[in-house]
Amino acid sequence: MSADLNSPFARDIAHHIHPQTNLRRHEAEGPLLIERGDGVYVVDADGKRLLEGMAGLWCASLGFSETRLVDAATRQMRRLPYMQTFAHRSFDPVVELSAELVGMAPAPMSKALFACSGSEANDTAMKLVWYYHHAIGRPEKRKIISRRRSYHGTTIASASLTGLANMHQDFNLPLAGVVHVTCPHHYREGLAGETEEDFAARLAAELEEVIEREGPETIGAFIAEPVMGTGGVVVPPRTYFERVQAVLRRHDILIIADEVICGFGRTGNMWGSQTYGIKPDIVTCAKGLSAAYFPISATLVSQAIYDAMLAESDKLGNFSHGFTYGGHPVGAAVARETLAIYRERDIVGHVRRVAPRLQDGLRRLSDHRLVGEVRGVGLMAAIELTMDKAARKPFPAERKVAGHLAGAIHRRGVLLRGLGDALMLSPPLIIEDAEIDVILSAVAESLDETQAWVAGGFG
Ligand code: PMP
Repeated sequence: MSADLNSPFARDIAHHIHPQTNLRRHEAEGPLLIERGDGVYVVDADGKRLLEGMAGLWCASLGFSETRLVDAATRQMRRLPYMQTFAHRSFDPVVELSAELVGMAPAPMSKALFACSGSEANDTAMKLVWYYHHAIGRPEKRKIISRRRSYHGTTIASASLTGLANMHQDFNLPLAGVVHVTCPHHYREGLAGETEEDFAARLAAELEEVIEREGPETIGAFIAEPVMGTGGVVVPPRTYFERVQAVLRRHDILIIADEVICGFGRTGNMWGSQTYGIKPDIVTCAKGLSAAYFPISATLVSQAIYDAMLAESDKLGNFSHGFTYGGHPVGAAVARETLAIYRERDIVGHVRRVAPRLQDGLRRLSDHRLVGEVRGVGLMAAIELTMDKAARKPFPAERKVAGHLAGAIHRRGVLLRGLGDALMLSPPLIIEDAEIDVILSAVAESLDETQAWVAGGFG
């Protein structure tokens, strides 16, 4: 804490609103000022090196000192720092990036449309679902089904898709027409003795009931993250997507895969949709697309959707959607270089090689008194804490036990995130074995420290 009123610390408190932050606590405790990056580490204002075990917000896949991305951005800044894509304008990096994304998509896609964030990509997806259904003469097919605990963004539409109550409360959300169904978290939502397959079958049956209750002619799309990220790294139960997709196809409901976290290698395949056999009609992606070195996102659409858009824009005279910075040349150039690095360094192969060290290492903590469940795939994982292993009893929410655990881990030089009872991990994809070991020992020691705090009555 700094008493100097002109310090960045004090000036941050004085002038800056932090998203997803307890504002009162920020006034009391101030910011964690990060000065620079160094591989998978960042260095704070006191010079302390911190291993960024969340890759920022699940996005800095190539760590914090990838000079090739700096050079790609600089070259593009010098050549053409800005141009829009409205009204037929185009330029080299966005042309090539579109072709590349369409070519590598997890299901046949026709075209790419760009924005700057995951939220905008999902807003765009929702608008395209509506546009498509208008185009094919069934405008009433406009409701979107999402899942509780999903995270799809923070704009009015994408926060509505998001299935976290705190993202809705006091914001007058969700918008009408978004329907949330059960989160596919077997540990928390499964019935006693229910197998993963039975749980998946029950959720598919629930989905069908919801569709029939709402009227299939009113449901336009279903949106899902292959693995839920912010909601606590919820890995779908076996057969879930297979069963859910069968229901959706039966009722002619589009599938949107939100690949904002899972896309570009996080789950050990290029796309989470490949890991779970999802065949989407629309794909949204961001984060890893540019390894977070520049804000850029994309919405990819199937040929059928594009054909309908074409017909509708004929009728209306224009396709009237887009953002000033959508397809920004610098973002597109950085994204192209990012994809080249993923290919050249076989980032997916690297994730597959190192992921077992993280996943097995975390699973070895399963016997710890505080640990209810360890889950994850590829380089994303969560530890679910519990007060009582047998009864799977959650901690009182106000204790913020996972946040306390994340604090203890931070003191040991590793940045992770606690939300509710879940400690989440999502390191840069370039992480090496020795760095995974640093995370694992910080987590193990901090679990013991947190256990002592819990046993001492949280005092
Ligand atoms: N979808 C998913 C799955 C996400 O994790 C996020 C961000 N955490 C978003 C969408 C929203 O992305 P952004 O914050 O870039 O708007």
